[in-house]
Amino acid sequence: MSRLRSALSRTVAHPAFHLALVLALLLGCRWLSAGTVQILTFALIAIIFSQSINLLTGLAGQISLGHAGFFGIGAYCSGILAKTHGVDVALSVPLAALLAAAAGWLLSFPAGRVRDVYLAMMTLGFGMIFYEIVREWNDVTGGTMGFPGVPSAALHTLSILGVRIDAAAYFQVVLLVAALVLVLVRNLTQSRIGRAFFAIHVSEVAAGSIGIPAGATKQLAYTLSGALAGLAGGLYAHLVGYLGPESFALPRSIEVLVIAIVGGLGSIAGQVLSATVFTFLPERLQVFSEYQFIAYGVILTFSLVVLPRGIAGLLLDPPRFIKPRALRRAVALRPDPAVLRPEAAGGGDGGSLEVASVTMRFGGLVALDDVSLRVEPGRITALVGPNGSGKSTLVNVVSGLYRPSAGRITFEGRDITGLPDHRIAAARVVRTFQDPRLVPHFTVRENLLLGAHRLLRHTGAAAALALPSALEEEAQQLAAIEAVLALTNLTVVADRTISTLPYGTRRMAEVGRALLARPRAILLDEPAAGLSEAEMERLAQVIRDMKAMGLAILLIDHHMDFLADLVDDVVVLDSGRVIYRGGIAEMRRDPAVIAAYLGDEAATASEHAHA
Ligand code: ADP
Ligand code: MG
Repeated sequence: MSRLRSALSRTVAHPAFHLALVLALLLGCRWLSAGTVQILTFALIAIIFSQSINLLTGLAGQISLGHAGFFGIGAYCSGILAKTHGVDVALSVPLAALLAAAAGWLLSFPAGRVRDVYLAMMTLGFGMIFYEIVREWNDVTGGTMGFPGVPSAALHTLSILGVRIDAAAYFQVVLLVAALVLVLVRNLTQSRIGRAFFAIHVSEVAAGSIGIPAGATKQLAYTLSGALAGLAGGLYAHLVGYLGPESFALPRSIEVLVIAIVGGLGSIAGQVLSATVFTFLPERLQVFSEYQFIAYGVILTFSLVVLPRGIAGLLLDPPRFIKPRALRRAVALRPDPAVLRPEAAGGGDGGSLEVASVTMRFGGLVALDDVSLRVEPGRITALVGPNGSGKSTLVNVVSGLYRPSAGRITFEGRDITGLPDHRIAAARVVRTFQDPRLVPHFTVRENLLLGAHRLLRHTGAAAALALPSALEEEAQQLAAIEAVLALTNLTVVADRTISTLPYGTRRMAEVGRALLARPRAILLDEPAAGLSEAEMERLAQVIRDMKAMGLAILLIDHHMDFLADLVDDVVVLDSGRVIYRGGIAEMRRDPAVIAAYLGDEAATASEHAHA
């Protein structure tokens, strides 16, 4: 079964297969009945529309219940421009996509601030507002009477760039547009853009920590998604020739969501299959069309229960998110451990990370109380203290997750207090999390490449077109990843999916990912928690390597033996206050530390011994 699936996946992914399919349809459509050609054109439009949901919901994780709004904006824009203003369809359809993209961009501002149920409600609201506007704006849209007479293949009134277009020719045009869309979406999925979408999907906080701005990434997702939906809508207008508000009401939003989910969110091939099936079914089964939405409900429920990854999950291997060409190119480049040295990605002045009198309050709780400490380059500073003493809070404040209630944080002499998390990562201060936050369905290598996101500077257009310059830049980072894999001992699992790997391996992958963001200061929040002896030794070696590279390292941990021969300085926190600062040997004799922390630890240790 899995061999069959792999073979099918390879075939479906092969350019020759795509080419053959497109050519067969291009030439073959002349022999098909008019009815079949029309349904096939509807299917192509559904494919483009479902890619719009795929980008926004499948990749970026933002649900939309109002996508018919974007579709409708595209349809009315192109329809009105062509009919009322005589604009050529070759121009009106791209303008429609542009207008819908602008609408997507605008919607991203309110929608980017909310999630889950609130996002669902907000996008539902967007769809309903669009529907009402179309119904009420009689002069422009024809209101409830509809907007007939759009130049279209169905009415034999369509010409593009002066050439008369019949139904079969229109099918050919839409086929080429759909093929182009699929190629671009596929390239995007396997680029920094698609990977960033997945990163914010899984954890906006983790994405920010390696320099991926959640806000801007969502804006891009909404804009691109709007553009594709608008494009589909524009093409739809010139297929049917009549626009009425009912075509852009809630059922269409639901329909495209069902297509995308049943096809398998995140899978391009799955969407193509699903869009085709869902276009043909209602046409072929008249019963189905009457009870269409009951059927959709049943299919969706069934699909979510039985096929959580949709048709694609059943038939195909999971998609991958690095271009094979970039991978092949990377093999030719020799991995060079020196690329990880902080100065390799632009040098700093080797200054330290300074926390000065930082206080953090959560309501009445003072999690950090006038904390000052300094982490110097080429030194390992341990941050220890009982649970709840404020260690993670300090990391959260430094890394820009929280703005401190008082105090200042500077790095290399520059004030970074209160900067957004991705800007702090860009200032080369990178953190890991107490609970590893990787993209579970990415491989180790793909997760590491996320770390290098900030260093991939090529434009979205270059990524969508998979330009050689963009691939070369990715190959450079993939070569650096080889060095990190070797350093962290992850080479053998590089192409395994994170969710299939043991906890210790995932932790190490997170440290590796942070390294790829080329930090000059790194904050490790309990990286050794849950590791085996052997894994801890490996981690200690990696941390020593970081020190040798000149990084300023803040290390949170509880194991005194692990810390003893690793760290240079220790800071002890208790109830948000610094109670000790100095060497680790002296710390173990310090009465205040023993009373607050080590006594506690000794008690736990003896408990463990008894257990
Ligand atoms: P540690 O990492 O040392 O175990 P934390 O920094 O996680 O401790 O927590 C310190 C204190 O701050 C705890 O009492 C915790 O409940 C509180 N705290 C941490 N984050 C928040 C938050 N976002 N909202 C409210 N209280 C918080
Ligand atoms: Mg903690």
